[in-house]
Amino acid sequence: MQEFFTDSVQKLREFKDLLASPKKIVITTHQNPDADALGSSLGLAAYLTKKNHAVTVITPTDYPEFLQWMSGEEQVINFESEKQETAKRLIAEAEMIFCLDFSALNRIKGMEEYIRNASARKVLVDHHQQPENFADFVFWNEKAAATCELIFLLIEILGDKALIDVPAAECLYAGLVTDTGSFRFDSTTKDVHRVAGELIAIGVVTNSIHRKIFDNNPLERMQFLGFVLSQKLTYLPEYRISYMAISKEELARFGSKNGDTEGIVNYGLSIKGVTMTAMFVERDDMVRISFRSVKDFSVSDFARKHFNGGGHKNAAGGRSYVGLAKTVEAFLNLLPEYQAELLSGE
Ligand code: 5GP
Ligand code: MN
Repeated sequence: MQEFFTDSVQKLREFKDLLASPKKIVITTHQNPDADALGSSLGLAAYLTKKNHAVTVITPTDYPEFLQWMSGEEQVINFESEKQETAKRLIAEAEMIFCLDFSALNRIKGMEEYIRNASARKVLVDHHQQPENFADFVFWNEKAAATCELIFLLIEILGDKALIDVPAAECLYAGLVTDTGSFRFDSTTKDVHRVAGELIAIGVVTNSIHRKIFDNNPLERMQFLGFVLSQKLTYLPEYRISYMAISKEELARFGSKNGDTEGIVNYGLSIKGVTMTAMFVERDDMVRISFRSVKDFSVSDFARKHFNGGGHKNAAGGRSYVGLAKTVEAFLNLLPEYQAELLSGE
């Protein structure tokens, strides 16, 4: 299924008419924003600001330090901060609300009821499976590699590509890089490379962005990664799965901060022969789970069915409330049921 409001002449005109005069606009994205979430939000914010709108980006939670180089980041309001009342007022007063990089309102934590109840016209721009029906304008394609790709296309469709400046292009490029696993996942189509090429033409220095995202680690994070890979990663060839489970105590031992586990799950997919990998991280109130897979095995279906989650076919997340050990046990107990599927493929 693809939903492009831009395919309907009337809807596109309605959207353009709305943006034709200055509007109060809020942009939001999913909790624990990643580079695609924050990059798409800030890239769009920069564009809409150039079009004379009053734009605020509000995130449901904080985001990791390695994203704080993004232009406009210093003006983002974290809903879980002392600025919550301001955020609530901006949401209530907004004339348009853009919801980026999430498909269901339960992904925006404490902001859910305020966004749901807001009188603003809502615009969903996203690439996750099974979008909830809450927006007036839906620019959604699960085949898109990143929401940043969709934001670029939307601005292009509006005829405003020339308004994307270098800082905004850097934000959009960052989302393309991370959501495609540095242009290596199946989602890396020629369209992705075209958009990347357009962003480079605008002035993105690719190596500089890659280094800001990936080569910007405190020593402790590298040591944490070493610990996880050497002590925590398990491979079960009989199922072609790998997994790692990280306790709160281990996170604390390495001074791990929010976002430090980001990306580590992908190492589990590097093992020869692996079909699916899972990373379990013990948090205060739950166990956060990240799933990754290759080829046809849908971790999105798996996460939705068993772990209160969802996402994309090859990258999904979920959560569990029964503690770390029991969660891993439940996961291992599910494997026989999926064995044939996990072993199929080359
Ligand atoms: P991550 O493992 O990096 O947190 O998430 C992988 C992908 O799945 C991301 O695109 C993320 O937005 C999505 N995702 C994570 N958790 C959930 C969830 O609970 N529901 C849905 N629909 N998507 C999720
Ligand atoms: Mn995304």
